[in-house]
Amino acid sequence: MHTSRRATRCDVISSLIRPVQGRLTLAVGLMALASLVQLVPALAIAELAREFAPSIVAEVTPDETASYWTIGWVAVGAIFAMLVLFMAAGLVSHLADSALSLHVRRRLVDHLGRVPLGWFGRRSSGTVRKVVQDDVSALHHLVAHATLDVTAATVVPVVSLLYLFVVDWRLTLIMLIPVVIGLVSFSLAMRGAMAKYAEYDASLARLGAASVELVDGITVVKAFGETGRAHRAFREAGEQFSAFFYGWMRQTARASVIFEVAISPSAILATVLAGAGLLVGTGRMAALDVLPFALLALGITGSMVRFMYGTQQVREGRQAAERIGEVLSVKALPEPASEEAVSPTTGHGAGHVAYEQAEFSYNEATKAVRGVSLELRPGSVTALVGPSGSGKSTLARLLPRFDDVDAGAVRLGGLDIRRLPTRHLYEHVGFVFQDVALLRTTVRDNIRLGRPDAGDEAVRAAARAAQIHQRVLDTPRGYDSVVGDDTVFSGGEAQRISIARALLADAPVLVLDEATAFADPESEAAVQEALSQLVAGRTLLVIAHRLHTIKGVDQIAVMDSGRVVELGTHEQLLSAGGRYSRLWNAYENGRTGSESFLAATGEETSR
Ligand code: ADP
Repeated sequence: MHTSRRATRCDVISSLIRPVQGRLTLAVGLMALASLVQLVPALAIAELAREFAPSIVAEVTPDETASYWTIGWVAVGAIFAMLVLFMAAGLVSHLADSALSLHVRRRLVDHLGRVPLGWFGRRSSGTVRKVVQDDVSALHHLVAHATLDVTAATVVPVVSLLYLFVVDWRLTLIMLIPVVIGLVSFSLAMRGAMAKYAEYDASLARLGAASVELVDGITVVKAFGETGRAHRAFREAGEQFSAFFYGWMRQTARASVIFEVAISPSAILATVLAGAGLLVGTGRMAALDVLPFALLALGITGSMVRFMYGTQQVREGRQAAERIGEVLSVKALPEPASEEAVSPTTGHGAGHVAYEQAEFSYNEATKAVRGVSLELRPGSVTALVGPSGSGKSTLARLLPRFDDVDAGAVRLGGLDIRRLPTRHLYEHVGFVFQDVALLRTTVRDNIRLGRPDAGDEAVRAAARAAQIHQRVLDTPRGYDSVVGDDTVFSGGEAQRISIARALLADAPVLVLDEATAFADPESEAAVQEALSQLVAGRTLLVIAHRLHTIKGVDQIAVMDSGRVVELGTHEQLLSAGGRYSRLWNAYENGRTGSESFLAATGEETSR
């Protein structure tokens, strides 16, 4: 199980990196070479000292002088070669990285364009953004920096140690004592680190969620004097995080300090000098042989620290690659292989919709929609009612393919919607749901999202019909105002913009989540008015929350536990005396005086 997960992880990373694998290998090779060359000057000085120092005391022969110069020039040449190689490795890896980032982002965007819309609904936009943005940059660190850092941090100590072993293996072993102590304490500090990292991430996420909740809800919280409760949740998350972090740090503090001290330059130098004193003092080692140790020891400890940081970045890069891989493996909606000239305008006509034994479940535990068959005739209005969780939204969202049915079919103009290219589908099916998302672009572009080539007059006409035109003109730059920068729209206003959007897109079939629960009756009335403009002449499927608004519709489908349990007009269902009539009576009894104003508006505009 574990091995197979690891294997999948490697597959994901190698499949992501494959397009730049060649360049990456070249960069690693260049970096290894650069790291080797980097050691040359130090080795040259050490060799110079070991070879010629004894003779300096005596007489320097012209031959020896020439050799000094040769070694000197080799050292200088090495410095230049090292610079060139470092730069080349950096350049190649950065080129590989930018090609990779582009490739991965394109793949992500292309794929995200094909995954079911419902998938997005089940995730916050933050998580999707994290993958496209943060995880791709973590991959950048992996490719452009971490891999090279780890290469350099491996080559330098390995080659240095080999050299030092040849010079004097006993002093090398002595020098390794603090290094081993450092490594042991590091692995102690990192014991169970994976679980801790996961806990750390989760704890931080809880803190993030609590702060978002606190900030988002601040007005409500203040208005209702609930400051205590919201603050408590935030404070608790904060305390929990700090308790966890403090505990973790206290647990690992001693080992971390030992690691830091053991591999610090002074500890290593002190050890080397103590060891050298012993060996030289007892005549077991030539004093000059100590020089290479003094020169190379610091490089070894520096590399160890780089190695630790590098592997941490590699770990993060791999996790990021895994998350990218997860997104890329979300099953895309099947698109018809060829653009067969399929058009739902043939068959029964543009606005005809039929659910045939449609089934859908989010998971194995519950079926959200069970074998629903329902016909929406062109130009008719169908309302879905039923208790919360009965499957209304799920059924409605199958039509614009937020998800595809598990069994059965949804047909548009007689054609299975899975055989329609998405582009065609959205020309025929529009939707206005409650969670309206406006893009951070001009109001104009927000409105003409479904018809980017629409002219100004058409955009204005749609906005006028949607009761939002005047509000747009009141913004600083009118239709050129950028949503979120120049102006912020309220929930009701955003909803009216999305209605203008649907009006302009002019799809013959419309799926609508009945506009509800707006704080101000003025906006509610405007939304209702806008809706009445929108639904005229279209096939409409509406998720109804308040029964009085749907009294006059063509058919009401009553849902319960994923099934349509009753179907008929308001009168038919009332006289049948079944579930709908009970719902209606309960609803009538529950309505308060203040709602009668809304009722009047609703009834007037429901057809
Ligand atoms: P309604 O719109 O009538 O309130 P829904 O269609 O939202 O009902 O829900 C139908 C069933 O599907 C419920 O049991 C609900 O818990 C479940 N459900 C809805 N959305 C999800 C989701 N994203 N993941 C898992 N289960 C879901």
